[in-house]
Amino acid sequence: MLTHEQRYEKAWADLRLRGRTILIALAVFVLGTPALALILGNSYPTATFILIGLGAAVLFGALLSRSAFPCPRCGKWFFLANPLARRCMHCDLPINAPYQAGQFSG
Ligand SMILES: [Zn+2]
Repeated sequence: MLTHEQRYEKAWADLRLRGRTILIALAVFVLGTPALALILGNSYPTATFILIGLGAAVLFGALLSRSAFPCPRCGKWFFLANPLARRCMHCDLPINAPYQAGQFSG
């Protein structure tokens, strides 16, 4: 059983991982797509199209995963429709905030 403090730390680590996954997927997609088009483009256009589509799907999934990050305090979607939010869109908890007992009533 995790303490509240551990649960918050775990949630923020999870959020950092989701953010890093987006950066990695974006870097692979931005660098990999032209490389793939150059290497395979003329010889295997269908394979190139499918691989680029898969890359876009992975990137989209990573973005969706971060958007759906549950707030460690209120449990609702932290970012809702604002992917750049620094605070929970529902309970106003700042990113990386430590757990503080009695702070939140809802
Ligand atoms: Zn919240």
